[in-house]
Amino acid sequence: MPTPQSRPAFRHPFRRPALLAAACALSLTAGIAPLAQSSSAQEPPPSVDAGLADFFAPRLVTVDTSGLGEKERLQSLGLDLTEHAGRDYAEVVIHTAADLRTLVDNKLDYDVRIPDLIARDLQVRALDAAYGLRVGRSPLPSGRTSYRTSKDYNRDMRLLAKKHKKVVKRFKLPRPTLDGRDVYGVEIGKGVRKPNTGQPTFFLMGVHHAREWPSGELAMEFAIDLATSYGTNKRITRLLKKARVIVVPVVNEDGFNLSRTDGEYVDLRDLNDYDPLGGTGTILATPGRAYMRKNCRIVDGVDTPDATCKLLLATPGGFGAGVDLNRNYGGFWGGPGASELPVEPTYRGAEAFSEPETQNIRDLVRTRNVTMLISNHTFGNLILRPNGVNPTTVGSDGLPVGDSPDEKGLKQLGARMAAQNGFANIHGWQLYDTTGTTEDYSYNATGGFGYTFEIGPNEFHPPYEEVVDEYVGAGKYRGKGNRGAYLLALEHAADPTYSGTLKGKAPKGATLRLAKKFDSPTWESSFEDFVDTSITVPKSGRFSWVVNPSTRPVLAAKTIETPKAKPFKRQVDTEPLPAPTGSTDVEFVLPRKADILEVQLDWATPDDLDLEVYRQIGDRVVQVGTSGNAPGAKEQVTLTDAARGTYVLRVVNYASVAPDFTLTTEAFESVTRTTEGSIERYTLTCEKNGTVKARKKVLVDRGQVKRLDLRKACR
Ligand SMILES: [Zn+2]
Repeated sequence: MPTPQSRPAFRHPFRRPALLAAACALSLTAGIAPLAQSSSAQEPPPSVDAGLADFFAPRLVTVDTSGLGEKERLQSLGLDLTEHAGRDYAEVVIHTAADLRTLVDNKLDYDVRIPDLIARDLQVRALDAAYGLRVGRSPLPSGRTSYRTSKDYNRDMRLLAKKHKKVVKRFKLPRPTLDGRDVYGVEIGKGVRKPNTGQPTFFLMGVHHAREWPSGELAMEFAIDLATSYGTNKRITRLLKKARVIVVPVVNEDGFNLSRTDGEYVDLRDLNDYDPLGGTGTILATPGRAYMRKNCRIVDGVDTPDATCKLLLATPGGFGAGVDLNRNYGGFWGGPGASELPVEPTYRGAEAFSEPETQNIRDLVRTRNVTMLISNHTFGNLILRPNGVNPTTVGSDGLPVGDSPDEKGLKQLGARMAAQNGFANIHGWQLYDTTGTTEDYSYNATGGFGYTFEIGPNEFHPPYEEVVDEYVGAGKYRGKGNRGAYLLALEHAADPTYSGTLKGKAPKGATLRLAKKFDSPTWESSFEDFVDTSITVPKSGRFSWVVNPSTRPVLAAKTIETPKAKPFKRQVDTEPLPAPTGSTDVEFVLPRKADILEVQLDWATPDDLDLEVYRQIGDRVVQVGTSGNAPGAKEQVTLTDAARGTYVLRVVNYASVAPDFTLTTEAFESVTRTTEGSIERYTLTCEKNGTVKARKKVLVDRGQVKRLDLRKACR
């Protein structure tokens, strides 16, 4: 597995030390901590039951996961992991003293990256003010120099639609948020106020996660860019004639508003009961707000009175409430990489699509031919593509999930976009497993390509100048950036090579509708799902309709290797337990190549042993596999295409009191088989004045053009 990124340099994590120094000199308030401590000597962890008097500033830390099993251990702790992670580290938001204690108790080493996120927010605000003074207007299409608020987004969308009537339409998504806030988007394209006549959709979104402010900024800037470039920029004009762009800059409107507006500064004299400084502080942001991740679902299935979320967030630990919207989508909902516990950062919700915010997006995906989708997040400098789980993960059908059938195309487009923004182009699971994300749903339900962008190297909402650079491109990406990546995405959306095309003749003004009912798989079950898209036949009586393929990716044939029932060699070793932190080696000789070599480690107590597997090559041993699960879970290493030779199986006593352990090693030949795969058809109807005049089953693949003549049938 390629490492998505090199481990971050701890000493100079930020790009603009000179500017930061300037901001510190502004001395906005006492208590701005130094930006990043490069500490190998860790501070003593505060006591878990620290009262309000011992105010705990939320902080960003880099946890070292290079040790055996440490990544898995970290993921099992319910901490607030960021998307900035690699093979041997992950950055984590530590909200409370208890979070910190959890890290320490689990013997995970960490370095503090941002010791006080609240102070950092004050600093970012000062930097943005200084940046505004210095440049006046940024090179962004809007010229902005600081983050928008909810109000700013809504005003910008309203004005854009007013100023560019011919190409921009603002719309309200069908469901308000739990706090009763409206969610808006803009649709952009030639003739946007008239019915769609066959144009596919590129769907660009931001702010599923409340604190990820740049994700909305970049989406909004792209909308402004397109609208203002139409008619003057050749490439953009051509694209906006062929496709529509839907931009919903802020999906999680409640969360964003709390993070951006209320999270910025809070006069704690208004909240005296909760004032950690005992009423002496004048301004201080509450930790739960600026670094809120989820939505405002406090109790499953209950729409609590408006503003409850805000009150709760002002309490210690209040950031824990809410559903992680990017685990609540229906695609593989309930699988690995999402939590079933409401207090955890990746809480998936009570059921698939339980939240109004994800229902809003689902309904757009169902009713448009979304041939390309990007959901913006921060941070990590990553382009993530489906699937969200490791291909060897066995799904509820008992088969490995495998790569998506469009792996090649998804990877190629990812690489082209990465050449614009400089991000790493990887699978979702290479960061860590996820299920229930936006593209887990959209890609698997429609076949339209979908990606997650994790924007920026260091922070959830860095100084705004970095947002500007991310959009227009900086350094060797100058003139490219995420703008360049989005333009490629729009080109892809309009490219019939990846979509089906229905071409033909029908009575002018008739409605053509393409619909399909199916069951979308969650991890363990499925739910009734559909797509239903329509166009109006233009005056010419000729239509050309770019559509997603009729057969969903989940129905494609899969090639699967399964082990034969009986191993050709089996060895069972029971040995006394090594001393704590010590290890015991067991030898296994493999007489010939094995398609699958499986080593299982078992012991009697619910504590922690780890397993490392080495192969003897000449006089060296080379590690070929490890397993380090959380305490209580047993260990297993599976190697594919294991070469003949001698293997060393090392059992490490991480923290176990068992008297002995048992290693079972089995070598298998495998059988390769291809599952049958199936096809799916749309039902195409031709309607006049609401009456169905003609109905037809349509099978259409990627790149295929289907010709239809509906003139007679649809009279
Ligand atoms: Zn996110």
